[in-house]
Amino acid sequence: MITMELTEWQKQGKDLFGEEAKNWRFKCVKCGHIQTAKDFKDIGMNPESYVHFSCIGRWKEGVGCDWTLGGLFTIHKKEVIVEDGKKIPVFMFDGEPEPEKGGV
Ligand SMILES: [Zn+2]
Repeated sequence: MITMELTEWQKQGKDLFGEEAKNWRFKCVKCGHIQTAKDFKDIGMNPESYVHFSCIGRWKEGVGCDWTLGGLFTIHKKEVIVEDGKKIPVFMFDGEPEPEKGGV
């Protein structure tokens, strides 16, 4: 599991894809679909709570899958520590190296 602070995560996004968060490319942990905030805006959704967390296939037919990290099963590989120390699961960035497989 990769765990990082929010600021560290934001820096990583900027380093990979530039200042604009809407251009950050996230990879669905289940199907590997690559999505950006723009993809969600294009279907009339607020991307902020979804782009790093739920596969766009939940709402858009023909792409991705219906995976969301809020579900019962944990297959995500990355977590971000937000305020009050809470950890939220996130999709990895496109092109980010996979962490070593640990015991499940
Ligand atoms: Zn997916």
